[in-house]
Amino acid sequence: MDYSAKLDKSLFKKYLELEQPDDMVQCMYIWIDGSGETLRGKTRTVDFEPKSAKELPVWNYDGSSTGQAEGSNSDVYLRPVAMFRDPFRRGKNKLVICETFKYDGRVTETNHRNECKKVMDRASDHEPWFGLEQEYTLLGQDGHPFGWPKQGYPGPQGPYYCGIGADKVYGRDIVEAHYKACMFAGVKISGTNAEVMPAQWEFQVGPCVGVDMGDHLWAARYILQRVAEDYGIIVSFDPKPIEGDWNGAGCHCNYSTLLMRKEGGIKYIEEAIQKLAKRHQHHVRLYDPKGGKDNRRRLTGQHETSHIDDFSAGVANRGASVRIPRQVGEEGKGYMEDRRPASNCDPYLVTEAIVRTTVLDDWD
Ligand code: ADP
Ligand code: MN
Ligand code: MN
Ligand code: MN
Ligand code: MN
Repeated sequence: MDYSAKLDKSLFKKYLELEQPDDMVQCMYIWIDGSGETLRGKTRTVDFEPKSAKELPVWNYDGSSTGQAEGSNSDVYLRPVAMFRDPFRRGKNKLVICETFKYDGRVTETNHRNECKKVMDRASDHEPWFGLEQEYTLLGQDGHPFGWPKQGYPGPQGPYYCGIGADKVYGRDIVEAHYKACMFAGVKISGTNAEVMPAQWEFQVGPCVGVDMGDHLWAARYILQRVAEDYGIIVSFDPKPIEGDWNGAGCHCNYSTLLMRKEGGIKYIEEAIQKLAKRHQHHVRLYDPKGGKDNRRRLTGQHETSHIDDFSAGVANRGASVRIPRQVGEEGKGYMEDRRPASNCDPYLVTEAIVRTTVLDDWD
């Protein structure tokens, strides 16, 4: 499985450094496949350097090979919607996030960006900001967490969170390479840390406004998968990769509106939390790709989570569904943190649901 990781990367450099004609730019079109959680990508050459995704042509792919169409009518359209610099090919080459559409122009089942964008446009006066904390686990070729003993388990949790040292953290090269690659690409990555379970890490993206949050997070996930591929390591976004006394993986969603960020904004934060409380089940269904089933393994009420069936909120409480950071409580303004989304959530669905519930009062 790690054959490509074993290829001589210094040899590849020779080709990467070849001069590229001005009228040939490689565009990696990226989309979410039929699973709603894994990404696919394929490349085409364009004869100009695009300044935005809008300038790029609509394309298509074989949807019958991605769980998105029947073989007899298999073309799915790719519409470019967001663009980043390509940190792998460098130069003028691009990564292009695309929406997917069926032959008749309708969105595919896993194109949740389309609706998210409409909702964010309706809510634009509120200036919704998001910051996502993407947790993930590195796995070796055997599917076992990277760096864990082949038989058995590492010592119990405690020393690993934000840890340093060869006995505390596993796979830092990947984390650092990913951070650099995101910055080069133009992804708004805002930090990283080692997590509570060894071989588990986190990166944060944001604050991003509206639909940009989903675009930037999916781009960051794509880049992470590609970096890990170079190292022959597998990235798991499973919300509870290891059963037992090991932390799961989430994708906490930090959120604020213009009013929440202003003096006295805590009032609006509290109002929003009351609305979220009333729609707890609805949100839980949208916070993982299996309607809450994946998150049920993670949101047990232990390991810094609230139980999936209960809604709770509190200042500085990491065992609550929604946390108001201590500093926000003290300053009386700022943002809140929805701790429920699973690591494999679709950020378009999560951000859309939060905005619908808290500012648009869309109670369907
Ligand atoms: P935690 O203490 O929960 O681990 P992190 O530092 O990992 O928090 O992540 C905090 C996130 O909150 C970052 O992604 C940051 O961009 C985001 N954030 C900060 N301020 C705001 C705000 N006003 N609105 C929305 N998100 C914000
Ligand atoms: Mn072909
Ligand atoms: Mn964090
Ligand atoms: Mn974390
Ligand atoms: Mn958090």
